[in-house]
Amino acid sequence: MKQFKRIKGTQDILPPESRQWAALENLIHEIMERYNFHEIRTPVFEQTELFARGIGQLTDIVSKEMYSFQDRGKKQITLKPEMTAPVMRAFIENKMYAQQPIHKLYYIASLFRQEKPQAGRLRQFHQFGAETIGSADPAADIEMIDLAVAIYKKTGLKDLQLSINSVGDPLCRNRFRKILQDYIRPNLNLYCEDCKKRFETNPMRILDCKNESCIKLNEQAPKLTDYLCDGCAEHYKQLKSGLDNLGIAYRENPYLVRGLDYYTRTVFEITSGALGAQNAVCGGGRYDLLAEELGGMPTPATGFAAGMERLLLVLQSQQIDMAETTGLDVFIIGMENDARPIIDKTLLKLRNAGYRCDQDLLKRSIKAQMREANRQAARYVLIIGENELNSGKFAVKDMSNGIQTEIKFEDIENFLEQQKLI
Ligand SMILES: [Zn+2]
Ligand SMILES: [Zn+2]
Repeated sequence: MKQFKRIKGTQDILPPESRQWAALENLIHEIMERYNFHEIRTPVFEQTELFARGIGQLTDIVSKEMYSFQDRGKKQITLKPEMTAPVMRAFIENKMYAQQPIHKLYYIASLFRQEKPQAGRLRQFHQFGAETIGSADPAADIEMIDLAVAIYKKTGLKDLQLSINSVGDPLCRNRFRKILQDYIRPNLNLYCEDCKKRFETNPMRILDCKNESCIKLNEQAPKLTDYLCDGCAEHYKQLKSGLDNLGIAYRENPYLVRGLDYYTRTVFEITSGALGAQNAVCGGGRYDLLAEELGGMPTPATGFAAGMERLLLVLQSQQIDMAETTGLDVFIIGMENDARPIIDKTLLKLRNAGYRCDQDLLKRSIKAQMREANRQAARYVLIIGENELNSGKFAVKDMSNGIQTEIKFEDIENFLEQQKLI
């Protein structure tokens, strides 16, 4: 028979690794709640045009990496490659602005991009992130950065570095664009092919090029932060003093850009030393012009997105175990068919009381069941054989010291309560 394989670039997340995922997700929910962010869930696919408009036709994501197809109704559909455009679409479509003037939203989502598979890069991958929609105030950016940092700190991730920059707004950017092009033009033929293409359409992105020789050529490039208009300069100043006030260390990187026109003012990136400077674990910033781009009213917004696979890889490399791997509280070993009703009722009672317990489902020998209890790292083993059935008592073995006692069937919950396992 044909055996099936998973699609290239996807992964099965199996136990015990899935415990790390669940622990990370729980942590994200917990911290987001503390900051009063609320979860939003959007469909796994959207109209292709949403992403063409919301991410930008010229980006790698839209031009090369999207999973797009025509459905049976001949509509162009795309599996979502990122969350900001869907969140903004949902915000506009559901008229969320009419409920209240500001929304603080977060998500944990599966996303899809047809990238070349490599370590930490999958075609179905996961991101968490947050968006504050409705506030232009630097306080919203400060909170966003604080939130991202708080989540990373809570995971135990070491060696965090925050880089910030301001990419201004259309006013100061138009001015800067010409200054930047004048700087690049004499050496344009030395830049990489991608940068040559960007020169007319989006010269700001040349500053972001990861190509070694382009980085060299950009060393003396003018900095947008030197050409900000008064409004943008003041916004950036307030961002920095807000971070100082919270004791959040940052590095100003004048060449940190997000290349799309609807990004404004604040941009930031968090890297972990363990991965090297090229590898951001989180990126974010302000996008005051996106709502209009997607057909909504002008609405200021700021946010971040962070990859989960990469974060879990770094945590693993730093030997951080997010999920405490403790064993079962109770494993029940039974030999007689007559014991079945007692075993089932005891399991039900203990599980309802909050204990993690299990039994053997394979009718194995006592010896094999004892091995299983050990494998499951059970703290207590309850044994019920013919003698125990007759006496109405479990033989109870404390696996931490080997001491064995007898406890009446009906007293088992009391006994466990005294042991203070939970
Ligand atoms: Zn380049
Ligand atoms: Zn400006």
